[in-house]
Amino acid sequence: MGRLAAALGIEEVEAHHKYGPSTLPKLAKCVCFENTPVPSMADEPMHPANVGTRVHALAKGYLDDATPELEAMDSAESEMGQEAADWIKSNYYGHKIHSEIRLDIDIDGLTTFGTGDIIAEPKDKLILKCLDIKTSQERGDFMEQVAAYAFAAMAKFGYEQTEVTLLYTRLGYRPEDTFYITIEEAREVVKSVLEKCYSKDKQPTPDEMACKYCAKKLTCPPVLSIVKQVATGYNPEAVAALEVALNEYHPSQMDANDLVTAKAIWAIIKKWGESVDYATKQQFELGNVVRGYKQIAIKKVSIDASDLDAVYKRSGLELPDFLTCCDVKASKLRDAMALKAGLPKTGKKPKDHFAAQMGALIQTKTESQIRKGK
Ligand code: SF4
Repeated sequence: MGRLAAALGIEEVEAHHKYGPSTLPKLAKCVCFENTPVPSMADEPMHPANVGTRVHALAKGYLDDATPELEAMDSAESEMGQEAADWIKSNYYGHKIHSEIRLDIDIDGLTTFGTGDIIAEPKDKLILKCLDIKTSQERGDFMEQVAAYAFAAMAKFGYEQTEVTLLYTRLGYRPEDTFYITIEEAREVVKSVLEKCYSKDKQPTPDEMACKYCAKKLTCPPVLSIVKQVATGYNPEAVAALEVALNEYHPSQMDANDLVTAKAIWAIIKKWGESVDYATKQQFELGNVVRGYKQIAIKKVSIDASDLDAVYKRSGLELPDFLTCCDVKASKLRDAMALKAGLPKTGKKPKDHFAAQMGALIQTKTESQIRKGK
């Protein structure tokens, strides 16, 4: 048994789950971080981790020219798997490819293990290649994870340097997604995190990225004290009026009294959060650089209403099927009906006429639209 698992009194597999390469980037931010369990594929097939698992299996299948072990849920997933396989075939041409390979990390007895997506050995035996396939929506900081794979692979295959690539299947490839790391550099990166995990007096250090994914975020004392501090700072009178000493912090375990208090605290924090979002957006719109904010182009495809007749004719659909694709603007429809009935456009009469004709069909969620099926 490795020193880490032994010191913590846990099994190797548990040590891998808690301190495996994919968890290391979060542990680098907070050494007390704990993974939130991933729901099963059957329960939540579209959970990001499950999408990632399928894309990895698809890439491996396409790479081996075999039927992938898992089926894609949609075309985007099969495209991501195919693109990853194509990228590997063209960039690692002539290399000896190891896919989904177990990699054991052992640094002075601090041990854990992980599964490397792709390790590719070049013919000239000079620089090893290590590829990690990412399906995340944005680029992230995965240094400790890939350093762990690179270190273990270099130790296993006898190399001094690795070319590491993060292949973001959703976002395309950029040259800066590739970097070089030596075995000593990789060792230092991994060792610094594992040593902190090994420490007996480790303390939680809240961090935006780590807390977001941590299983303890609802019960973690520093996080809760920040929550209370923020609530008090934002609205001291409201907090003073509350009984803030909750007996239980996890909502699923709270009794009715705690839930009332918790909801009151949440109302204050939520308002503060909305205010933070608003102020951040304002800063961003003023042209200031705000970490985590970027301009996203929103593509809106719509067909102008003036083309509707032509669009209907060319669609080849029957009218009822075509109508399921349309939204109705209540105000426009009311005006058109008033015109046809010889009524003025404004005043009570067109409204009454519209209401009388439409009756229960009008289920407007907003004042101006009747949306089908809502
Ligand atoms: S919730 Fe607590 S333990 Fe989890 S990452 Fe945040 S500070 Fe660390």
